Formats: sequence, structure tokens, C-alpha cells
Amino acid sequence: MSDPITPGSIVGVLGGGQLGRMFAIAARRMGYGVHVFSPDTDTPTGHVADLEIKADYDDLDAVAAFAKGVSVVSFEFENVPAATAQAAARHAPLRPEGHVLHTTQNRVREKNFLRSAGLPVAPFAAVRHAGEVRAALREIGTPAVLKTASWGYDGKGQIVIANESEAASAWDALGTDEAVVEAFIDFDCELSVVAARGVDGEVVCYAPSVNTHRNHILDLSVSPAPVPAETAADAVEIARTVLEKLGVVGVMCIEFFLTRNGRLMINELAPRPHNSGHLTIDAHVTCQFEQQLRAICGLPLGSVRPHGPAAMANLLGDLWLEGEMNWRRVAAMDDVKIHLYGKREARRGRKMGHLTVLADTAEAAATRVLEARAALH
Ligand code: AMP
Repeated sequence: MSDPITPGSIVGVLGGGQLGRMFAIAARRMGYGVHVFSPDTDTPTGHVADLEIKADYDDLDAVAAFAKGVSVVSFEFENVPAATAQAAARHAPLRPEGHVLHTTQNRVREKNFLRSAGLPVAPFAAVRHAGEVRAALREIGTPAVLKTASWGYDGKGQIVIANESEAASAWDALGTDEAVVEAFIDFDCELSVVAARGVDGEVVCYAPSVNTHRNHILDLSVSPAPVPAETAADAVEIARTVLEKLGVVGVMCIEFFLTRNGRLMINELAPRPHNSGHLTIDAHVTCQFEQQLRAICGLPLGSVRPHGPAAMANLLGDLWLEGEMNWRRVAAMDDVKIHLYGKREARRGRKMGHLTVLADTAEAAATRVLEARAALH
């Protein structure tokens, strides 16, 4: 095994958002330097990095120069183009590797990988035109969800189809040349497992959290999820298998549907720390961002032991647009942790920060974090 990349070294991150920021904070806490590559300046990551390089992802000379200046490159933005990933990987290890990005950047490839690995996914079919959508609906049934193969996130690029007569209009509305038709899952809840895998193949998984979404954007995560121990253990085992079979070195989040009859189905994979893992910053011995650092640097992974039940509520730009924020009132709630990403402009649906609360029970943590968010106005 290669020597670990030790504190004092410089780590590189592609993408300048809040995930990169929290990664950079973890890295700097452990004595690493951080360089960030982003098409923007004044980014959430740039604010806390040693060096912010502004260039487009397709400026491969800039990518190469960036990679030459660091010991390892990771990313917080999973739509890094393949050529960018290759250019970086020529000069520094890219972790997770390009093949992980390649698989997870496209729903068809991702679902085919999961199915061929024998892992549970909702029934789906890849489609390239309206006729194939109709054929898929006949096979899978309705309602169903039509999702673009690429560039979908937070519910963007997906349309629910109630019956076959909507096939053509849904296809036209999506405006893509590759998509999947997926069975609509009447789920009981959505769960996620954040996991990390080291250079030596060691895997650690946080206990599943339960996630609720609003307008397709994560709203609330609560850990541990109130599911039977057997379901939690199955989710963790599936997550471990995904990281092993995909050969991930780094952090990955596996999002699940838990169906009403207790079956787990993977919804999607994120090859990086995930919004549902933000509560690990306050609630676990090692947070997901430190795990990312440890994993990509070839260090042993940290403990995933929780300090206690916890809940995280997102703060979207909508809150800022709806009135003056009463930070004093929330700061006075001494059990509430405030995380803000330093974004200068609030927009609807934009993730500006989050709140985390630890409590004696997961339910109490959830109640309290929502109370804290409501106290902002
Ligand atoms: P995604 O971008 O695929 O994660 O989808 C965003 C959200 O849409 C999910 O978190 C679900 O709440 C919902 N959703 C996506 N796919 C399905 C499905 N097949 N059945 C029911 N709800 C879905």
C-alpha cells in the first residue's frame, strides 16, 4: 500500500460549494492545506481554503496545474466532466476515481451497475424516445417517474407520469435524449447511509438517517432512523456492498426508499459527502468530511460512534427572502448548532446553511430543530 498523505500536505477539491467548505474546514482542522478549483470566485469553499483557483472545468491546462500543486484531488461536485477528472488524475490521485464518477453521473449506468451487483433498485427501463417510454410504462406500470439520465439532482429533471397517454408530453417536457422510466414507489420513508472506504478497503458506515424532502429538496434528516434494527442493518450492509463493488475510495451516500412492506430499494448514489450526513459534524466522533479526508489520504478511518440522537434542518434561501432573520433568538437556544455557508446571495431553494440539535431521542431532536428554524422568523 502506498504511503499515506500526512498532515501538512495539500489536498485539492474540485467544486466550491458548501460540501467543499465543510471538507476544507475538516482538512484544515487536521493541519492540511486546501486548494479549491471552481468556475467561480468568492465561493463557500474558497472562503476557507488556502488557494482558490478560478477556471472552467474544461480548461484542462488549469486542471493539470491545479492537480500538480496538491497531493490528492477529490471533488464536491459530482458532475465534474470526465475529461477534467482524467486531466487531474494524470498528476495526482483522484479519489474517488473517475470510474466512480462515470457510473454515478448517469442514472442508466448507475442502475445497471446496481442491478447487476444484485442490489435492490426500483424496477426501471432506459429510454431514448417517446415510443420507448410507452413500452416501458406497459412493462413497469403506472404511476411511474421519468428521470433524465444525466444532470438530475434535487428532483430536477423528473416528471411523474400518471398514465400511458402522458408518455409523449412527458418525454417532450423533459427535453433530453436519454432517460429512465422508474416505477413510482409508494414509500413509507426515505433513508440514507453515509459510508466511507479507505485506500486499504476498510469500510465504515454511519447508522441510517431518515430524510424528509420539501419540493424535492432535503428538509430534515434525523438519526438514527426509527426503523427496525434489521432494516438498519440491511441498509448498512447494502451500503458496504456498493462501496466495495464500485471500488470507492472516499465517501459515498446511498439513498433508499423503504417501501410500505418493509423492503429497501436504492434510489440513488452520491459519490461524496451528502446533505443527510451534515449532522455527523456535531453528532458523531468523526464527521463525514473528516472521513472523506482520511479516506482519500490513505489514513485509517475514524469512529462513526454517535454522541446521541440528532436532527438536522436545512436553511434554504427562501427563509432569507421571507423576512429579517432573528439569529439572536436561535443563538440563545443553547442546544442548537448553527452552520452557515457564507453565500452572499439568497435564492429560493438555495442551500444557505443548516441547524443541528442533539437530544435524548431522535424525535425530540427533530421537534427541537424545527422549533429552532421556526424561531428564525
Ligand atoms: P431523486 O432526484 O431521484 O433523488 O428524486 C428526488 C425525490 O423525488 C426523492 O427523494 C423522492 O422523494 C422522489 N422520488 C424520486 N423517485 C421516486 C420514485 N420512483 N417513486 C417515488 N418518489 C420518487
